[in-house]
Amino acid sequence: MKDKSNVAYFCMEYGLNEELPIYSGGLGVLAGDYLKAADDLDLPLVGIGILWDQGYTHQYIGEDGRPYDTFPTFDFDEYLQDTGVTVTVTVDGEEVNCKVKLLERYDNAPLYLLDTNISDSKHSWITSKLYDGDEYDRIAQEIVLGIGGVRALRELNINVDKYHFNEGHAVFAGVELIREKMEAGMSFSEAKEATREEIVFTTHTPVEAGNEAHDHGLLRRLGVYNSLDYEMMESIGGNPFNMTVAGLKLSSVTNGVSKLHEQTTKEMWEDVEDKAPITGVTNGVHANTWQDERMKDAYEAGEDLWQPHSELKQELVDYIAGNHYYGTQLDTNTLIIGFARRAAEYKRWQLIFENEEKIAPLLEERKLQLVFSGKAHPDDELGKDIVQSLVQIEQRYKGSVVFLENYNLGVAQKMIKGCDVWLNNPRRPLEASGTSGMKAAMNGVLNLSVVDGWVGEGVEHNVSGWLIDELLPDISQLNDDQQDAEALYKIIYDEILPTYYEDRDKWKKMMRASIDMSQEKFSAQRMIKDYYTRIYNPK
Ligand SMILES: *Cc1c(COP(=O)(O)O)cnc(C)c1O
Repeated sequence: MKDKSNVAYFCMEYGLNEELPIYSGGLGVLAGDYLKAADDLDLPLVGIGILWDQGYTHQYIGEDGRPYDTFPTFDFDEYLQDTGVTVTVTVDGEEVNCKVKLLERYDNAPLYLLDTNISDSKHSWITSKLYDGDEYDRIAQEIVLGIGGVRALRELNINVDKYHFNEGHAVFAGVELIREKMEAGMSFSEAKEATREEIVFTTHTPVEAGNEAHDHGLLRRLGVYNSLDYEMMESIGGNPFNMTVAGLKLSSVTNGVSKLHEQTTKEMWEDVEDKAPITGVTNGVHANTWQDERMKDAYEAGEDLWQPHSELKQELVDYIAGNHYYGTQLDTNTLIIGFARRAAEYKRWQLIFENEEKIAPLLEERKLQLVFSGKAHPDDELGKDIVQSLVQIEQRYKGSVVFLENYNLGVAQKMIKGCDVWLNNPRRPLEASGTSGMKAAMNGVLNLSVVDGWVGEGVEHNVSGWLIDELLPDISQLNDDQQDAEALYKIIYDEILPTYYEDRDKWKKMMRASIDMSQEKFSAQRMIKDYYTRIYNPK
């Protein structure tokens, strides 16, 4: 057997750079970092995705303090090449043509993007908006990604040993692989077994409700059955057809994205029969993208890390002055804690304001500055409420609290390099991995976090960051907001403020420990090597 499988990596979104904004958040950034690492290491991998003409929301704050959505269209022709290949899929009884475009920028790891936006086509809507919220649209999009993706690989004559489904959106590719084999004469069960050997599946969602399920009638009508029948489809995804269950049953190996998430995944899907063995591969981030070169150089030369850190902090402060809606000028000599994530309830955006009288004096006396950023899904009014209430808090503490609108790769770059501390306090165990803290850690920005996702595998309390869980009087009472907030305040008052203002040497030592801890272990290069040795070619 050859030692390196040819891999086709399927993902709904890719976050590579701001010129090609075809991602929404963490999943896409992970996929983008994965391609970059494959490119660096010259591993045999191609990406399959969708060219989202309007991408995901570009979200700004309105006069009323509430976020609103815009969908600018981009001209991708400059970045993409037309392969000349068009494939056809059936959606709701109609033939849909998908052009296959190529991103060559990462030449060892080409990315092929399917696009139904062809002039005169009435199917342009399919690849228009990422996660537009409508189930019918979503299924059509998943037909393009999965079934269209496999057909594109065939037309392009790309030889594939393993199909990697990064999240359940791609599982209809498995249905197409089965159909091909049945057409060549295999029985359904032979075709299914042979297909399983070719598929590996990564799941990212630690909550039941986050796992997509569809009605069989709708799947049949839209054409997902793809010449299979109800019994066959039901044996793959159950009824209703659950995309994660289908991933588990169609793969030879399934993995979660941190050790903790591996455990959560095993417990969640315990009752699913005839599923792949579940393991874990902890995520990583592309260091050349996320670690500032000045920080890297100073670290490697054993130099003072405060120098590059001050520059990066100044750049964040200048960025905020120029891009914040009323141009707040933060002070570079004051501690900055950053927090940026999706506006979802479980992330507990306002935990630090749980007992506001504890944090207010620090903000008023300019001992502490807080920088927030994040988007709500366009249809998520509760997520928008979260952002709006943050904007109200910002008004109360003008000059000390900042909300940066339209969180994206560019805003993330500034924040994860320029803050002093990176805060993460979701309800546990709801963060499958989390990667922004890895990016921060590589830049000597110290994590202040609950133990969830990747954090417990890396951050050591008071050495390379701070763990809120270490201060809990009662660990059996996880996720008690009061208890978590008190522990958070205690760390800020007793550890962070004195160290930052009075013991710069210890701070610098912790910065170095943070980079030591993260630079290799939480890199995308380590991650992809793990996939090649443990997932694609298990011994
Ligand atoms: C890294 C990144 C994420 C994912 O970070 P989490 O810690 O998982 O929230 C999301 N969005 C952008 C723009 C990022 O750069």
